[in-house]
Amino acid sequence: MRDKVLILNQDFSAIAICTVHKAFLLVYLQKAEMVSKANGAVLRTVSASFPIPSVIRLQRYVKVPYYGIALSRHNVLRRDNFLCQYCGTNKNLTLDHLLPRSRGGETNWLNLVTACSRCNSRKGDRTPEEAGLKLLRKPSKPSLLTFLQLHLNTNNEDWSLYLNVKNK
Ligand SMILES: [Zn+2]
Repeated sequence: MRDKVLILNQDFSAIAICTVHKAFLLVYLQKAEMVSKANGAVLRTVSASFPIPSVIRLQRYVKVPYYGIALSRHNVLRRDNFLCQYCGTNKNLTLDHLLPRSRGGETNWLNLVTACSRCNSRKGDRTPEEAGLKLLRKPSKPSLLTFLQLHLNTNNEDWSLYLNVKNK
């Protein structure tokens, strides 16, 4: 059974992911309606059966504050698809400060990239330009939507419809 449900705002923009349990509760309390069912799966009780939601939509529009994704080692790796941003390997990953910390480089989304230990030591105390290293792509600050989209790589085809409509 799939255990994650996509929550849409009243305007159909994706805002969060929750458990099936929470989704049921929202629908039961009439705070949300079911938009898409998890293909044919049902939850059976003694007297009835309920289709399992895959996407639900809130009945009332909620203002979603910008939820900054926490800056952590894991989230930087996630943003970079668990690939060294210099050579593309997925082995021995570390975090690299583009502008080295020793030279005043800050620890933030734009100055941190995933790098394998080999590229990291090759780069040493230099910027990528100085070390002749090219980035696969420029680091960015991920939005909630970026991370929701990562879930698409799993198996939530019916979510794609909603994750592509809006680009916040
Ligand atoms: Zn590398």
